[in-house]
Amino acid sequence: MFAAMLLPQALLVAAAWTPVMDAGFWYGLGFAIALIAGPAVAVEVVRRHGREVTRRVRAINEMIHRADLGGRRSDNGPSSNCEITELADSVEQLVESVTRRERRILESALSDPLTGLPNRALLADRIRHLIAVSQRTRSAFAIGVLDLDRFKVVNDTLGHSTGDALLKEVSRRIQRALRECDSVARLGGDEFVLLIAGDAEVARMVSRRILELMREPFRHNDQVIDVGASIGLAIYPEHGQDDVTLLRHADSAMYRAKRSRTGAHLFDGDSGALRHSYLSMLGEMREALEERQFVLDYQPKLVLATGRIGGFEGLVRWNHPLRGRVPPGEFIPFAEQTGFMRDITRWVVEEGARFSRELTAAGLDLRVSVNVSALDIENPDFAKTVMEVLRRHPIDPRRLCLEITETGVVSESETAMKNLNLLSRLGVTLSVDDFGTGYATLSQLQRLPVNELKIDRSFVSGINKERGNLTIVRSTIELGKQLGLKVIAEGVETAQEMRSLAALGCDEIQGYFLAKPMRAEEVIDWVKMRHALYSGPVHALQ
Ligand code: C2E
Ligand code: CA
Ligand code: CA
Repeated sequence: MFAAMLLPQALLVAAAWTPVMDAGFWYGLGFAIALIAGPAVAVEVVRRHGREVTRRVRAINEMIHRADLGGRRSDNGPSSNCEITELADSVEQLVESVTRRERRILESALSDPLTGLPNRALLADRIRHLIAVSQRTRSAFAIGVLDLDRFKVVNDTLGHSTGDALLKEVSRRIQRALRECDSVARLGGDEFVLLIAGDAEVARMVSRRILELMREPFRHNDQVIDVGASIGLAIYPEHGQDDVTLLRHADSAMYRAKRSRTGAHLFDGDSGALRHSYLSMLGEMREALEERQFVLDYQPKLVLATGRIGGFEGLVRWNHPLRGRVPPGEFIPFAEQTGFMRDITRWVVEEGARFSRELTAAGLDLRVSVNVSALDIENPDFAKTVMEVLRRHPIDPRRLCLEITETGVVSESETAMKNLNLLSRLGVTLSVDDFGTGYATLSQLQRLPVNELKIDRSFVSGINKERGNLTIVRSTIELGKQLGLKVIAEGVETAQEMRSLAALGCDEIQGYFLAKPMRAEEVIDWVKMRHALYSGPVHALQ
């Protein structure tokens, strides 16, 4: 009898921890008690303990429910069978819910909430793991740093929800391009890190596949958005033995890719062969300056309101005795890394000023723009150099325009600000080149003593096809007007693009549609001919 009385307590404990026991089980057990101890005992058990069991079960169930752990609230009558079944369910849900929560906490510490990709913390761990595996298997792997080319401007002009959607789609496309043995993490912002199993050749192939997928325009809420990407690659063990060095080298390769617009770039900073070719190139560059092998080609700019030529941009070329006319993309990054850029820039500014005098002497009222590297603006003597050039070649300083890439003007270092303010006081025109590719904020633009914004050609070329680009160009023009700046669009290749820009109120255009860069000796005749053939405002495309 005593054993029979203890039985319900034991059953209650069993019920709480054995979610598989259902109502049928309890009926079966009641029947068993009836068989063993006789029906009277069974009835007594149910009578004496039924209410107590129900009360306790309900209390536990309520507790689980209140703790918001998934318990089921019972509104049923005092049937203990039903209560116990619910308790069993609740316990099951409790276990599931705690597991889910634990997984969520673990995931949020190691993954990026927007894309669900591994984050910086997990990445470092994975790289260390890969290093250990590679050491054992004597195999190589690559780290790729991928950065979107125009993310900031998309985020600013089209809004953060578009930016977020874009990042999610970028992460999907990267994953599509990767093989199963590769992985990707998001460092934050628009920066992703790729872990690619294999050597440099494999890494290049995978990068090409990613870049191809990135070239497809993105679509979001009827907007078509063009964003390119740049990838820098570093290989283990060649380019670094630990996660920090590998990431740093991949990052510096990514900047090279961005500057030279090559898409992907393999880290080459420490290669001995390359250092050797660098040294010989350095010697060649010195010679090139002395022997006047550098030349400026000139590309015209059209004033849309008058239909007349407003000026030219001087673009440097290296007339190499063996290699022919070398484009700037092939030697400027090198000159920047070796400190030779100062000498080239000094020559470029001087040549621009000299050419401006030549144009004035031919009766042409034109502005000559030249490109100044971001590094020049960080040179404390830069403004002084320009002042000296103007002393040697006296011209109206407004006729000389310095195009400085956006990334150069936003550094806002003390030296850069000093240079810009001095140049502005000197009366030289200052233009923000490749606008939209850097990270200038509105307040920075307000503070900077610049006169002109030059919209990067990557936005201009898709203006009639992609609404995203159109929106970006329109808002840049509006921004420029509000700040009292002249706005010029580069890379205009069709009449349609030119008329659309006229409709948006852009001031000037430059691009292959008007003319490709030409030799200095062709400029004067070309302008005279153009002015004889065409004049009057460019009609807007409605
Ligand atoms: P940038 O300042 O944006 O110059 C415009 C580049 O776009 C030029 O290439 C020009 O030939 C090209 N371009 C012009 N119109 C069109 C067009 O309609 N479509 C396309 N697809 N391209 C067009 P380039 O001459 O090869 O110059 C490349 C870059 O090299 C320049 O970009 C500039 O950043 C740099 N650079 C050129 N000359 C100098 C210089 O004297 N000093 C410095 N620091 N950088 C220079
Ligand atoms: Ca330029
Ligand atoms: Ca440009």
